[in-house]
Order: sequence, then structure tokens, then C-alpha cells
Amino acid sequence: MAINHIRPWRNIYRRESRKIMVGSVPVGGDAPISVQTMTNTLTSDAAATLRQIERCAEAGADIVRVSVPDEDSSAAMPEICKHSPVPIVADIHFHYKRGIESARAGAACLRINPGNIGSPDRVREVIRAARDHGCSIRIGVNAGSLERHLLEKYGEPCPDAMVESGLDHIRILQDNDFHEFKISVKASDVFLAAAAYQQLAEQTDCPIHLGITEAGGLTSGTIKSAIGLGQLLWMGIGDTLRVSLSADPVEEVKVGYEILKSLGLRHRGVNIISCPSCARQGFDVIETVKILEDRLEHIKTPMSLSIIGCVVNGPGEALMTDVGFTGGGAGRGMVYLAGKKSHAMTNEQMVDHIVEQVEKKAAEIEAETAETGAAEKTAAE
Ligand code: SF4
Repeated sequence: MAINHIRPWRNIYRRESRKIMVGSVPVGGDAPISVQTMTNTLTSDAAATLRQIERCAEAGADIVRVSVPDEDSSAAMPEICKHSPVPIVADIHFHYKRGIESARAGAACLRINPGNIGSPDRVREVIRAARDHGCSIRIGVNAGSLERHLLEKYGEPCPDAMVESGLDHIRILQDNDFHEFKISVKASDVFLAAAAYQQLAEQTDCPIHLGITEAGGLTSGTIKSAIGLGQLLWMGIGDTLRVSLSADPVEEVKVGYEILKSLGLRHRGVNIISCPSCARQGFDVIETVKILEDRLEHIKTPMSLSIIGCVVNGPGEALMTDVGFTGGGAGRGMVYLAGKKSHAMTNEQMVDHIVEQVEKKAAEIEAETAETGAAEKTAAE
């Protein structure tokens, strides 16, 4: 993926995997690495759940998972699946019947946990329902809920035990001629999760769902996820991901995208490059970036913006960005467009002006993309 002949040190060679569909979203193969999150509303409250799903989709979630812990949740699933703007994954633990009900309700995928879904017979029933209703399945192994016989065999949750659990369930699906599945081997311990995923990646060609489970709060969970998921993605492992945070699911989506953006694996919205600021700054960098992040949240077009406090690094960073601003003296700074010095601007007018420039550039990029798409379509006809 993203082969760069000029800068080979930026190349990431993605592991080859089969492609499956989660509703309308392809996962695996050459599909973009999708970003998932999970609702934390009561699923039985369809209206509240849909509101949260819409917020997550607006932030960029490609797929959203909802827990289906009881019959009331199952009852709300048809409405949720019908009105959701993105495919819905039903999260199933303990009660295999909720899986069958969710498949009937229109879920795009069923997440089952080998450690608590029950006997192979029950898994087979879930597989039948998934097949009948065009659902894919995620085998969601979790270090915290491994099968008893594996814990007895290995003594504790370890990569071998997690991978064995996953492979056992892959076999059940394959024996039932079901191949639309992906797999995860999550743990809250970064070392354990990373080792399990690396081992798993060598033993199956099915798409891999990445996650560091129960990673923690916004800051600590983001760091843990960036370390764990970041190194796996850098190795080319991972076809879809969910960042688990004790925070608003919208934050999970944002963090997921930031991890992918940092590795050049996905691009969405404005990538702001800004300095930490110091006594040399020509304007309040931190406050300005905060305001700009908020004011530019509506831009979905991938593009870059540099906001740098002074000329030490400003012109250099601006060379590489679509729009740039570098602080100067006497309450003024310099605006850069497409890497070139363009015009001076006062600090007071700078925020409105930058927003205007970014919106203009986004519209240009969108128009160019539409033109290229139309030309390619004509050429193909
Ligand atoms: S770019 Fe300038 S203002 Fe920003 S941290 Fe560096 S020296 Fe300080």
C-alpha cells in the first residue's frame, strides 16, 4: 500500500488478505482500512442509539457496532439497522439467540466471542442465520474471556492461547462452508495483543480487525492504541480497527483516523501541522489551533494546513502543505498557498482568512477529483 518510490522509507507493505463485505463496506484485500466504533447508549433505545451512530458516522466511522445483550435490544435492531447511515455490527456475548435475532433484523455483521458463545452447535446456528441473511461474522477473541480449556492448557492468557481460540473458530466456520468472516485477538496489554496479532497474521489470510481492548481514558487509551495499533499497521497488519476508549465514541473515531493518517494509510479532513509554540511565537499558536480544529471539522477533503508560530520552522513546513500560516512580527504573519509565500495577514483576521482559504482549496480539490473521475469514466467507456 502507498508505495513511494521517492521516499521508500515511508512504504508500508500491507499483508495480503481476503476481502469480505460488512454490509456495503469492504474489509480486507485492497479496501481502505476501515474505522469502527461502538455505541454506549442502551440499544433498546433505538432513537438515542441512532443519534449516536449518526454523530459517529459524521465523524467518519465506516462501521458501527452495537451491543445486543437482551431481547429488548434485539427488538430495537430492525429500526437501528434500517435507519443507520453505516453498516451495523451486532455484538453478541453469551446469548447466541441474540445473534440469530440480529441477523434477521438486518445487522451487517455479527461479532461472536468464542469464549462465551457456547457449544459448536450454537455457533453453527449463528452461522446459518448469518448465511441466510447475508451477514458476515467477526470472531472476536478477547484475552479476558478465553475458553476454560485453553486457560488450563496454557496457564494464562497468552498469544498461543488467543490464536488457538481464533483458529478453532475459523475451522468451525470453514467446516460449515462459511467464509465471510474476519477475526480479532484483542487484549488490554499492548505486548500481548501485538504478539497475538502478529502470530495470527501468519496463520490465516482472513481480514484482521485490530484493537487494544479496554485501553483506558482519552489520553492514556489513545497512547496505548497508537503504540499497539500503530506498530501492527506499520507492519502491514490490520484491515479494520476500533480504538476502545472510556470516552465518547466520536473520540474513538477521531483517534482511529489520526492513527491511520499518521501512517499515511487513510486521509480525511484537514491534517493540521502546528508547532508547540514558544517565546518566539508571533501569535497564540495553541489557542489558534484549538479554534481552527473546531472551525474546520466540517471539511472532509484530505488536505494539509501548517500553523507555525515563527519563521524558524514556518516556511519549511509551509512548503509541504496546501495552506500555511507563519507568525511574524508586529501582529502580522505570512500566508502560504501550495507551498509558496502568498500574502501577509494580520493576526486578528487570520482565523477567518485561513478558514476561507482551506474551504476554497477543499472545493478545488473536490472539483479536480470529480473531473479526473469523469475523465477516467469516459476513457473506460
Ligand atoms: S516554530 Fe517558532 S514559535 Fe514554534 S516552537 Fe519553533 S521556534 Fe517556537
